[in-house]
Amino acid sequence: MRWFVVGHCLVTAACGPKAPPSAAAAPAVVPEPESGATPSRYDALEPLPSAAGLPVPPDVTATEVERPDLPPIDVLPDDFEHGGSEREASDIDMVVLHTIGGPACVDGEIQFGDPGRDAVFWRDWFTTQGGKSIHYIIGRDGDIAQQRPELRTAGHVSFGGVKPNVNKRSIGIELINRGNGEDPFPEPQLLATIALLQDITSRRQLDRSAVWAHSDLDTRMQDPPCEDHPRNVDPGAAFPMQRIKAALTAPE
Ligand SMILES: [Zn+2]
Repeated sequence: MRWFVVGHCLVTAACGPKAPPSAAAAPAVVPEPESGATPSRYDALEPLPSAAGLPVPPDVTATEVERPDLPPIDVLPDDFEHGGSEREASDIDMVVLHTIGGPACVDGEIQFGDPGRDAVFWRDWFTTQGGKSIHYIIGRDGDIAQQRPELRTAGHVSFGGVKPNVNKRSIGIELINRGNGEDPFPEPQLLATIALLQDITSRRQLDRSAVWAHSDLDTRMQDPPCEDHPRNVDPGAAFPMQRIKAALTAPE
């Protein structure tokens, strides 16, 4: 199941989502889906060249703060029955960043997949998953979709050894990216990420210390035979965490 479990936690065994049916037996290279067919989770896979969790800088000094516009957010209908549990605004003191693509242990080898698609596609995919959920998804074009309201919990971090009760206290954001530390994050996606984080941290009166990389919260290793590799590396070394943090309010 590690395979279905690709990705951040959305897709890792640890985090636990299930892959679309067509991805159940995904080969190393997945052909393009036929027109009208359910697309597989990845268009292709490649071995992990190198990847490591990106340490969150202890602090960042910004001389000029970016203030990009927040793109419109695609939300589900008012009568959509969301999962998760209700929570109070005062419960929220963390935001966790993920990438949707890998790693997955396939035949003893770490692989990452190209998620492809846009934010609405993956938001709709998440709504079909029982165990995995997220609050927001940000596409490569800066498109944003909401899968779950902020005042409901989502299941996106399955390890409490670094910070307890992460799902109860956090807002999860999934970035469409391979997460292998090399796949670049396009500028529109980064601007949308900054805008959404500024919006959330402003509304919730949080500072940049509230923003976490998933890899810093779930420090476990993969299950055998990939036990020498971290279970989570997202959002990864290609994600400019320092730039993102510089755009947020400094801790007092
Ligand atoms: Zn993750």
